[in-house]
Amino acid sequence: MPESTNTAITAIARNTAGASIELDHVTKTYANQAASAVEDFSMTVNPGELVMFVGPSGCGKTTTMKMVNRIIEPTSGSISIDGRDVLSLNPNELRRHIGYVIQQIGLFPHMTIAENISVVPRLLGWSKAKTSERVDELLRTVQLDPGTFATRYPRQLSGGQQQRVGVARALAADPPVMLMDEPFGATDPITREKLQAEFLRLQESIGKTIIFVTHDFDEAIRLGDRIAVLSDRSQIEQFDTPANILAAPANDYVASFIGHGAAIKRLALIPITEAILGGSSEAVGPITVSTNESLRDALDALVLTGVPALGVVDAAGSTVGSISVARISAVLGTDAIGIAVEKRLEAVSEA
Ligand code: ADP
Repeated sequence: MPESTNTAITAIARNTAGASIELDHVTKTYANQAASAVEDFSMTVNPGELVMFVGPSGCGKTTTMKMVNRIIEPTSGSISIDGRDVLSLNPNELRRHIGYVIQQIGLFPHMTIAENISVVPRLLGWSKAKTSERVDELLRTVQLDPGTFATRYPRQLSGGQQQRVGVARALAADPPVMLMDEPFGATDPITREKLQAEFLRLQESIGKTIIFVTHDFDEAIRLGDRIAVLSDRSQIEQFDTPANILAAPANDYVASFIGHGAAIKRLALIPITEAILGGSSEAVGPITVSTNESLRDALDALVLTGVPALGVVDAAGSTVGSISVARISAVLGTDAIGIAVEKRLEAVSEA
């Protein structure tokens, strides 16, 4: 068992079915390449944790991830899942216990959706009845009606629906570990956001240990329990929670990845209930926000309506207080406000 970190506690609360993943001094040098694609990479992923690998194209994210299920063999170093050395296991056997979702989906075009999802259960020798029960359960889990979709072929589905089938297929044999390589990258922004939200909800209940590769920092913030910001040769520039990375980027490289609007991005991670709310009679208009929304949602509503404060209502619809821009800024701390004021002053002096 890993030491009792906060993330481990979250994982237990989530009732995880996940396993720990440990990479220890892993290096990969491709044949005929002078420089290594991954150099001396060490990381522990806790059971039930969703870790995002984010970094520019070619920095080694995919190579690092593919060594976990041995699609790529490391040149040196060791990798273990729940303490078992993956390099000592049969690679085909190993892959049946690791869900794998890729951008191109990789559904077999000549197989129905049900057959696609059944590939691993069939390899594992499950009975027909057990397999078909599992297919229906998984289709419902990814919000596709089994009656409508089980007998269709991949080409009869939209990109978003195919991607959901890809996730269902990866989950078929209930693997403790999932590897996801830009799984939502090929979908349009609206479908992508929807798939991300569904996937987060799903992970809340399944609690898999997931390594998720993306080049999109906003996706990393939205989904990750922790984010590893990688640079060339898969060097870890920072490995921390989204909130900590946004609040204190380790260096200029990480800061450049965050880009503009760090404060706004942080607000999206903070529930309204983290703010000390004002009295409910405080110049509140008819528009309200709910306690389960984020501070970013609250700021959005404040800016749109132009009122000095919004009422905050709980799940039962009772008003529990009010929220204003000043109270939102207070949560971010004086640093953020200081920086914002400084930037405004700079802009004024340049104008
Ligand atoms: P990322 O996923 O971050 O885009 P990759 O892991 O795909 O990065 O690639 C890391 C580096 O390894 C790149 O320089 C890439 O050109 C190189 N590379 C990837 N696959 C191979 C391969 N099969 N043979 C040789 N070099 C490769």
